[in-house]
Amino acid sequence: MTTELGLPALRGGPTRDPARPDDPRLVDTFGRVATDLRISLTDRCNLRCTYCMPAEGLDWMPRDEQLTDDELIRLIGLAVSELGIEELRFTGGEPMLRKGLEKVLGASAAMTPRPDISLTTNGIGLARRAEALAAAGVNRLNVSLDTLRQDRFETITRRDRLSDVLDGLAAARDAGLAPVKINSVLLRGVNDDEAADLLAFAVENGYQQRFIEQMPLDAQHGWARTEMITAGEILDRLGERFTLTPDSEARGGAPAERWLVDGGPAVVGVIASVTRPFCGACDRTRLTADGQVRSCLFANTETDLRAMLRGGVSDREIADVWRDAMWAKLAGHGINDPSFLQPDRPMSAIGG
Ligand code: SAM
Ligand code: SF4
Repeated sequence: MTTELGLPALRGGPTRDPARPDDPRLVDTFGRVATDLRISLTDRCNLRCTYCMPAEGLDWMPRDEQLTDDELIRLIGLAVSELGIEELRFTGGEPMLRKGLEKVLGASAAMTPRPDISLTTNGIGLARRAEALAAAGVNRLNVSLDTLRQDRFETITRRDRLSDVLDGLAAARDAGLAPVKINSVLLRGVNDDEAADLLAFAVENGYQQRFIEQMPLDAQHGWARTEMITAGEILDRLGERFTLTPDSEARGGAPAERWLVDGGPAVVGVIASVTRPFCGACDRTRLTADGQVRSCLFANTETDLRAMLRGGVSDREIADVWRDAMWAKLAGHGINDPSFLQPDRPMSAIGG
């Protein structure tokens, strides 16, 4: 059921890799255990961030290829009860565009053991939905915001919605979705002079700021290493206004390296996937909106669970195929290898 992307799916029953240990969890050959499931609820979006997708959008996934709410809930259920998944992060595309969002959240929150539930959103519509999301079971929220300036927001997202995002952030904080994290991507010559302003805004308003290095996952394949703002540059710019000291709290599988801001308690995180990869501690598995398991954002293979769901395969067998997929996880994403090939699926269709 694992396919090289772009080739027709192989048909046939699940295969158990004989080398894989008899461990119910999602283990791989490098000793890592996946306990964090990232779920893409849709590939659609109401913004068009330049580093993510083209102005005209993409050919969205046909509805019948997308998992239904019940199919998705079944897969999440077996991940939590059979595979040792402890954390669920819902993302997309824009997850708030998924009609059944509250249903999927509510069903996830009712699972045993209760998983930790978080959502990554662009914040459009969050102001009126934050309370309902908290009530449905969301524990934590990440909101993407790359600039505090209206003209730049429009340049980057190709939409004039900055005030919606700012209102959404405040509503999330007021709904108790703590910590509300702000995810920012800095682009050279566009918003790279705003690092310190974004951090100051987050500290003043009780949010947690995180910067993400731009990754080669845009649909247009326009990423250029020389254009990317590195973690080193981000820290230099923050250092001009703040004193940063490494946070001693254990990082675990968290992608962000964290620093205390002016002695704390405020912290800032930097996700340096390109210049300081953290693959050795990765604890993730991913499920796309069309039911494909991916063991890495940058994987060039995926495993088709939707065909199994729709083919009447049992939970036990699906769980075993998921374990096989994780067992085959590569050591690292290979962005820095000369032979690196950007995956066909863009970030918006994988779930960032
Ligand atoms: N639409 C939601 C949002 O923007 O938060 C969720 C999906 S979006 C793909 C998730 C995160 O990925 C966002 O914080 C976004 O800034 C980030 N992202 C998108 N494309 C990226 C890229 N090429 N490199 C780094 N981060 C990227
Ligand atoms: Fe949409 Fe998020 Fe991609 Fe921006 S980063 S276009 S909000 S999916």
